[in-house]
Amino acid sequence: MNKNHETRMEKIVSLCKRRGFIFPSSEIYGGLNGVWDYGPMGVELKKNLKDFWWRRIVRERDDIVGMDGAILMNRAVWQASGHETTFSDPMIDCKTCQGRFRVDQIHALPCPQKPSKMVASCEGEKTEPRDFNLMFSTHVGPMADEANKTYLRPETAQAIFVQFRNVLETSRQKLPFGIAQIGKAFRNEINPRNFIFRSREFEQMEVEYFCHPREGFSLLDTWLEERLRFYEDIGIPRSKIHVHDIPDGERAFYSLKTYDLEYEFPFGTQELEGIAYRSDYDLTEHMTKSGKPLDYFEETTKEKFIPHVIEPSAGADRTVLALLCEAFEEEEIFSEQGEREERLVLRFHPRIAPIKVGIFPLLKNKPALVQKAHEVKQMLRPHFSVFYDEAGAIGRRYRRQDEIGTPFCVTIDFETIGESSPHLQETVTLRERDSMKQRRLPLQELLSYLQEQIF
Ligand code: ATP
Repeated sequence: MNKNHETRMEKIVSLCKRRGFIFPSSEIYGGLNGVWDYGPMGVELKKNLKDFWWRRIVRERDDIVGMDGAILMNRAVWQASGHETTFSDPMIDCKTCQGRFRVDQIHALPCPQKPSKMVASCEGEKTEPRDFNLMFSTHVGPMADEANKTYLRPETAQAIFVQFRNVLETSRQKLPFGIAQIGKAFRNEINPRNFIFRSREFEQMEVEYFCHPREGFSLLDTWLEERLRFYEDIGIPRSKIHVHDIPDGERAFYSLKTYDLEYEFPFGTQELEGIAYRSDYDLTEHMTKSGKPLDYFEETTKEKFIPHVIEPSAGADRTVLALLCEAFEEEEIFSEQGEREERLVLRFHPRIAPIKVGIFPLLKNKPALVQKAHEVKQMLRPHFSVFYDEAGAIGRRYRRQDEIGTPFCVTIDFETIGESSPHLQETVTLRERDSMKQRRLPLQELLSYLQEQIF
């Protein structure tokens, strides 16, 4: 990573901590490597992302239904899916520094003892590559023995495959149709790094879209377009997303074609989402191993077959990181007194911003202003996440909202309460984050104006 990009990343991580987006897990005990907690702003941001994904994928379509599977599943699921034997990364150990590294990363990972060199070229004595299974194992029930062993799920997809029949029968869907799910996944990553990009506990937003084999390739391209549009609609432009058509020989063995959507993170262009054409691999494996029918009967043609599946699988945390990187900006501005100042702003799309509207009485020691500001807060609160702030100079309050990416601030001033310029009574000052422009708006129009801008 070059120095500028490194500094940018450090500034983002520090802003996330300072403004309550993301903290290291268990921080007061020294943290836990590869695990993060979302604070008050982070949880709103991630929730807005997940809610918008759900709205786009499930609520606005007739052909996709949702489900919420358990994190713990019968171990047989992971045996049938192949995870128990093959969900592993090759790694090497260094006998000199005692480090363990993923083989495909040693050219980009600095040696812990001599950071000027990469692990691949440092002098440390390395072992031959060995496979390391990424699943966290655990035991169900009081006996920690082999018979009770299972795993924390390393992906959400398998719950969808094993519930295929139940969902199909209860939702009365016909092919092509999809099942969507958002949930936690766990991977004991060998080298978690780049903040929340690669962590050991994370959330996935996945769809398994089932179809007739003849439609697979064209639906894969439809999904590619759909997903690019989604990123645009949350403020990540197409120009920042690279579509990587994974060549033969590099894809998972069951995949007929896979597109990785990669985002230009400060530390490099890396995967945000994978859209894989997984053939009939998963349903076939589960049908064979469980002995239960997971095939499909097409009424019109009287044909019976195992559906093929397209899987757009996105990481919620990686997308949160992409949103933060995309939104983060430092700019030089001139204050009202004409002084040069640095402004830190998160230019989130209003749709995903943690707080939509900041509400300020111009002065906190003027009861009529405070009371009116609370009334405005109560009016907007059922519709948006709002933040009431009466502390400090108004400029400073705007700046605080800029740093958490609040797109609009409403100030209740003497005009609002009719104490100056009576013709402006019942109007407020609306300040827009990106342009920093202020204008007056009748209170009556405030809600509908904001609704139009935000959704
Ligand atoms: P990578 O090659 O980066 O390890 P992957 O190809 O194994 O990722 P998938 O199994 O396709 O990832 O998972 C789908 C999505 O889940 C990824 O595109 C990513 O957004 C997210 N994801 C996977 N592993 C992690 C992780 N360790 N931390 C955060 N998100 C992850």
